[in-house]
Amino acid sequence: MQISDKAEEILEHLWIMIREMGEETVGMKELKTDRDAPEIQELLLLKYIDVFSDSVTLREEGVGEAESAIRRHRLAERLMVDVFDLDRGRMEENACLFEHLLRKDVEESICTLLGHPEFCPHNRPIPAGMCCRNSVKTARNIVTSLSDVSKGTKGRVAYLHTRDNKKLQKLMTMGILPGVTIEVMQTFPSYVFRLGHAQIAVDKEMAGDIFMRLGR
Ligand SMILES: [Zn+2]
Ligand SMILES: [Zn+2]
Repeated sequence: MQISDKAEEILEHLWIMIREMGEETVGMKELKTDRDAPEIQELLLLKYIDVFSDSVTLREEGVGEAESAIRRHRLAERLMVDVFDLDRGRMEENACLFEHLLRKDVEESICTLLGHPEFCPHNRPIPAGMCCRNSVKTARNIVTSLSDVSKGTKGRVAYLHTRDNKKLQKLMTMGILPGVTIEVMQTFPSYVFRLGHAQIAVDKEMAGDIFMRLGR
C-alpha cells in the first residue's frame, strides 16, 4: 500500500529519533504535526504508530515501512552525490523530490547501480534491501551516452549526467529515471526514443546527458 508523502516523512523522523537516537517517543511539536492531522490519522489507522497525549511512538508494525522510506531517502542522496555530482545544498533539495519518485521498482536498480552503498553522504547507514542481500556479482554491462548509440539500440537508463540543475529536473520529470527501459527510434535530426510506453524527443545535447546500459 502506498502511504502519503507526509506520513512517510513522519515515519522517517520517528525512525531516526527512536531507532538511531535512542529516544522512546517523539513530541508532536517536533514532528510539526498534531493529533488531528490527516497523516497522523493515516498512520494510526495502519497501526504504524501509537499516540499518548502529545507524544508519538513507532510500533513494530511501522518499522518495515519506516526503514524502507529511510533507505529510499539515503539512496536518493547517494545518487545525487555519486551520479549527478551535486553539491550538498542541491543534494538536499533534489533528494527530497527524488525519494518520492524512487518507488520500489527502480529502487533496486539504483542500489545496484550505486554498488549497494552502506552509508549515505552524511555517513548514516542505509538499511539493506533484497538486492544487497542477494547481491550476486553480475558482470557490468556497457554504459554509453544516448548520443553515441544507433537507431534500434535497446537498454535501460543507467544515470543522468548534467551539472545543470534545471536540465536534471526536466529530464527527471519527463520520466527519464535510472532503471527505465529505453529504445532508440531515431537519431537524426533529433533523438527520438521509446521510454516505457511513451515516446520522447530530445536534441543531441540533451541526449548526451542520458546514459544507458545496453541490453535487456
Ligand atoms: Zn543522509
Ligand atoms: Zn542493494
